[in-house]
Amino acid sequence: MGQVKLIVSNWKMNLNLLNSKNLIDDILKIRHSESFKHIICPQHLLIPSISGLLRDSKIIIGAQDCHYEKNGAFTGDTGVDLLKDYDCEYVILGHSERRNYHKEDNKLIKKKVDLVISANLKPIICVGETITERKSNKYLEILGNQLDLCIPNKSEEIIIAYEPVWSIGTGLVPSYEEINEIYDFTDKFLKNKKMTRKLNFLYGGSINSENFKEIVNKTKVNGALIGGASLKTTEMKKILTFC
Ligand code: PEP
Repeated sequence: MGQVKLIVSNWKMNLNLLNSKNLIDDILKIRHSESFKHIICPQHLLIPSISGLLRDSKIIIGAQDCHYEKNGAFTGDTGVDLLKDYDCEYVILGHSERRNYHKEDNKLIKKKVDLVISANLKPIICVGETITERKSNKYLEILGNQLDLCIPNKSEEIIIAYEPVWSIGTGLVPSYEEINEIYDFTDKFLKNKKMTRKLNFLYGGSINSENFKEIVNKTKVNGALIGGASLKTTEMKKILTFC
């Protein structure tokens, strides 16, 4: 068996208490392929109940974001210690929806990345270009900048999720060559920075059970970040049982 691939479910701001429990019930019945490690990232308020339901399973719980300070006067935010209290192991950071709607920039994302690592959690760092940036051929410059400013100085493993903004929720997926180009770019970037750390490179954007197999087989990715399809039992069953 090759390297175990990460499958990250990003539920975003979806599901209530009842239908999230129903989805977990269904997912727990699936006999996961041993090739995958499944991480589920629900809304913060769902984390306590979902964490309890996953306790005796191999599925891991993660968060969709956190604050860059451990605690303090930050109304409405969530700190890393509480995430750890509920067994979270991973935190998605720098998702384009947070960059866009919450105006998070690379500097702020880096602060979160550093805090998450110091708390012994693993950041899943999202990078990706807009359609305008891709069309103007500036995408490598943009991605290089995001990597440069968001990648931690310390940590043995780096998890990068390449999520082109134009692919998220649109049904548009880059070609295998385009995904591999960004894999090679990221790998070279880390080597140039003398970062000989393990790279876990995920792809995210309009993944479904149909395109998943091909993306995993025909590109160099080490896993996937899945939004819309992660809310559907039938889709997740096909994805998680594929080896
Ligand atoms: C995402 O937002 O992280 C994502 C990958 O969404 P979708 O799969 O719905 O495109």
